[in-house]
Amino acid sequence: MSELPTRVCPHCGSQLGEWAAPPESGWGMLLVCNNNDCKLFACSGTSIENKDPENPFGCRYAENPDNGYKPVHLLAWLGPHAS
Ligand SMILES: [Zn+2]
Repeated sequence: MSELPTRVCPHCGSQLGEWAAPPESGWGMLLVCNNNDCKLFACSGTSIENKDPENPFGCRYAENPDNGYKPVHLLAWLGPHAS
């Protein structure tokens, strides 16, 4: 079951890591860029409209192996320690 090809983020070149999506999302396993310095992720904090400054979210690059590795932008919690 671990025969997934190595995928890299087109934005930063980091290897994507497996992430099990919540069942309600309709996704199964996603491959996610976990690089906090990723260009996409670093820029996303100011690019989301109507976002609550008290709830910093960003977008991480991800691909869905169940859908032909279609790119998805995963909304991710930046956490209280995000700069
Ligand atoms: Zn990346």
